[in-house]
Amino acid sequence: MYITNRPEIVFTHGKGSWLYDNTGKRYLDFIQGWAVNSLGHCNEGMIEALEKQARTLINPSPAFYNGPMAQLAGLLTANSCFDRVFFANSGAEANEGAIKLARKWGRKFRNGAYEIITFDHSFHGRTLATMSASGKPGWDTIYAPQVPGFPKADLNDIASVEALIGEKTVAVMLEPIQGEGGVIPATREFMQQLRALTKKHNLLLIVDEVQSGCGRAGTLFAYELSGIEPDIMTLGKGIGGGVPLAALLSKTDVACFEAGDQGGTYNGNPLMTAVGHSVISQLVAPGFLESVREKGDYLKQELLKLSAERGFKGERGEGLLRALLLDSDKGPQIVEKARLMQPDGLLLNAARPNLLRFMPALNVTKDEIDQMMTMLRSVLDSL
Ligand SMILES: *Cc1c(COP(=O)(O)O)cnc(C)c1O
Repeated sequence: MYITNRPEIVFTHGKGSWLYDNTGKRYLDFIQGWAVNSLGHCNEGMIEALEKQARTLINPSPAFYNGPMAQLAGLLTANSCFDRVFFANSGAEANEGAIKLARKWGRKFRNGAYEIITFDHSFHGRTLATMSASGKPGWDTIYAPQVPGFPKADLNDIASVEALIGEKTVAVMLEPIQGEGGVIPATREFMQQLRALTKKHNLLLIVDEVQSGCGRAGTLFAYELSGIEPDIMTLGKGIGGGVPLAALLSKTDVACFEAGDQGGTYNGNPLMTAVGHSVISQLVAPGFLESVREKGDYLKQELLKLSAERGFKGERGEGLLRALLLDSDKGPQIVEKARLMQPDGLLLNAARPNLLRFMPALNVTKDEIDQMMTMLRSVLDSL
């Protein structure tokens, strides 16, 4: 089915930060499957885990335990503030699970409260409930009627959240860094205010770390940056390094699903969780996250230099999720020219027309960042 405009090329293979098309042209990839390929294209550890697991056990049924599911859950709980994990196949499905868990908790402990305060310009996925939770302009009408119960507050404005709290409120849900909205970080102060406010009113705090999690922000999870502990977290994208895997995590006392409340044919399937285990193991290896922070800082400095040089409006982001703020709506034009460049192309994304978003592999090299900056300068020169 037609769903979007795709360029007339077919990608055939990739390695690390480079993608190759059917004509043999190569592209420096600063999209990486939309912040999905945390370790670049065709990472050796992931290949090994996938091959080994494919020969051992592909799917015993979600109603039975398997080794990789337990090992990955153990790795995630050992490296986060959470105790319980449910595996899903996509970020939207993990967020659906978070919404259901909060509503269940509200029914059990909060007199049936079900409203979840979310934010303008947020993005939580493309199912009906997650589209309703999202604050994307126009999304309230495309598939109307919406799923009710998602009043919208303004990011980094605690009074706007407080004003929406009522009898029916059960939780506040946000992306610690709004990704699709244009790489807009919630401030440390705002995250701390939210934690205090939700505690005061006995509400759950849900972080959607589908894009900001799994090392992208320079810490394993972005909530760590503000020193708070949320009640529920969702992961997707980077956790599978490119394969369909997502997760819903919570503290013990919040994990109140009863038998039959939640499930899914592929939840915890060993083929995907084995790959996720390889990905997370590589992210928590000594020195890895430190190197993400170093390269994030390096990219930041380079973008600031370029911004000053061209009269742009600076940059923002955390770790290796960054945006360059342009002086006009030429983002889509830059993206197109960069891809068409010869001999090598450059893959970039304009999350909004007035900015460019950078989400390279977390193991991108400084040399590749330099190459990207050189290519970007030549695209800007050609406009
Ligand atoms: C991409 C994304 C989702 C949706 O994930 P899918 O795997 O596409 O369903 C949800 N939340 C955030 C913050 C995202 O960036």
